[in-house]
Amino acid sequence: MKKIPQRMCVACKARRDKSELLRVVLLPDGHTELDPTGKMPGRGAYVCKDEDCIAQALKANRFQRGLKTQVDSDTVEQLKTIYPNKEQR
Ligand SMILES: [Zn+2]
Repeated sequence: MKKIPQRMCVACKARRDKSELLRVVLLPDGHTELDPTGKMPGRGAYVCKDEDCIAQALKANRFQRGLKTQVDSDTVEQLKTIYPNKEQR
């Protein structure tokens, strides 16, 4: 059986299969992107595909810690809008 790589959510610290997490990647040119495929080169930080975890990670600057750099505002906006339900409540 193929072993699925496990990654840790930067917000809740749960370990999950890579496919269950959302990856934010710091590309070699120094900007950040959402990486839904998990295949982009560069340093990655992972968060659950969960609005609470994303909100918490953004609030506590957890991505910055994991990536050792500021997350681009574009990426932050993407993260905020990817699960928009919370905003409307
Ligand atoms: Zn989480």
